[in-house]
Amino acid sequence: MKEVSDIGVIGIAVMGENLILNMESKGFHVSAFNRTVDKVENFVNGRAKGKNIYGAKSIEDLVSSLKSPRKIMLMVKAGKPVDDFIELLIPHLAPGDIIIDGGNSHFPDTDRRTKYVESKGLLFIGTGVSGGEEGALLGPSIMPGGSPAAWAAVKPIFQGIAAKVDGDVPCCDWVGEGGAGHFVKMVHNGIEYGDMQLINEVYHIMKDVLGMSADEMHEVFKEWNEGELDSYLVEITRDILAFKDTDGVPMVDKILDTAGQKGTGKWTGTVALELGIPLTLITESVFSRCLSAIKDQRVAASKILSGPTPSFSGDKKAFIKDLGDALYAAKVISYAQGYQMMKAAGAEYGWNLNYGSIALMWRGGCIIRSRFLSNIKEAFDKNPDLANLLLDSYFAEKIQAHQAGFRRVIASAVINGIPVPCLSAGLNYYDGYRCERLPANLLQAQRDYFGAHTYERIDKPRGEFFHTNWTGRG
Ligand code: NAP
Repeated sequence: MKEVSDIGVIGIAVMGENLILNMESKGFHVSAFNRTVDKVENFVNGRAKGKNIYGAKSIEDLVSSLKSPRKIMLMVKAGKPVDDFIELLIPHLAPGDIIIDGGNSHFPDTDRRTKYVESKGLLFIGTGVSGGEEGALLGPSIMPGGSPAAWAAVKPIFQGIAAKVDGDVPCCDWVGEGGAGHFVKMVHNGIEYGDMQLINEVYHIMKDVLGMSADEMHEVFKEWNEGELDSYLVEITRDILAFKDTDGVPMVDKILDTAGQKGTGKWTGTVALELGIPLTLITESVFSRCLSAIKDQRVAASKILSGPTPSFSGDKKAFIKDLGDALYAAKVISYAQGYQMMKAAGAEYGWNLNYGSIALMWRGGCIIRSRFLSNIKEAFDKNPDLANLLLDSYFAEKIQAHQAGFRRVIASAVINGIPVPCLSAGLNYYDGYRCERLPANLLQAQRDYFGAHTYERIDKPRGEFFHTNWTGRG
């Protein structure tokens, strides 16, 4: 096979197939390969027919069809299949060739693989790709990291196929070394979990406290999507609420209330604990899915454990506005937490992350795309060293304007017995973050009492530690 293709893609499933078609539509020649080779045949004779897509019959065939430096992108199941394909590829590649992993790999694996592939004289990129099937075909958000020397060769393809905002600005830029790209994708997925759960909590209040129908809620989400809450997730919620089953009943009402998860939200929470970052809202969103999954226990508990019967007697229209304010404020707080985590990771792993550019990468193509990511970009453009998004003047004013409604919504949910773990985690973080004196003085006293862990004093310089004999015993 003559060297004609600009890039090879291994993995002809939902993502790989659509990414290949996207690349080809932007003028790139692509070679395709898959473990089950029959799928290559089916693809080249089906959706890829008549296009500049070569169906490779083996790894050797794939490698020999590529222009140098060879670029081979893996779009296979995350985990062992990625390592297996790296091993299969290495003997066939030459110095400077690039292996790319575009799956949902965990960033420590990407760190390890970058070092390993570089030790063989090759280059490695681990990239987050977000946007699902449609994004892959029409323009995903792409978050690449790995070997910096590989970026120049891959950049035209990645930026060519990525979603575009403001006309022609690609939602793809270099994130950083090693696992930085997959780390940012992981935080993106965590934020996605949080955004979804926040919408679900607001929906729960609308349904069970305000007694709204799916059609009424559809109208509210429609209006919200035309204002500051404009986002992909609000947009699809609007459409889901209007969708009827064949008998005219809203489809959403027929869906079992047990949430699935693939684990990237769990990674985000686990890493937050390891880094010591209070990523409370996203972590609560993971626990919410876990609670939803124990449906049988919840059904049994609902017959034993009592709570208030939800009711509402106030101004419904005003309360719906409060719900929108609560959703917006909690979302800002969730992103503030996510950005704090990226800052901590940057310091821990030596990544020079560009936070404004990350906001730009998320503005189009991906599941969390939204209008307010432009404001986040502006905040970091204004001050790249911003300690916390909440301290940016735009967001500080926004929270100030929204917090009364935010508090009323949480108070009402608590009084009516509606669980709002993410909304309240957001408000608790906000109130904790703005609290000059937390009760941790008492906590330090307790630690010193039972474990002689010592404490610092407010009337002495920081760094001087004291111990008290609290019981007077020797
Ligand atoms: P997938 O279902 O995760 O994986 C299917 C592909 O992996 C097939 O090509 C399959 O080959 C290959 N594969 C599975 N086990 C293998 C093994 N043991 N050895 C070699 N190859 C193996 O596909 P996907 O949904 O297109 O996702 C691809 C990657 O993108 C994943 O990491 C996924 O997490 C990530 N991702 C997916 C989405 C999405 O919306 N689906 C969005 C963003 C990111 P065979 O055909 O031979 O089985």
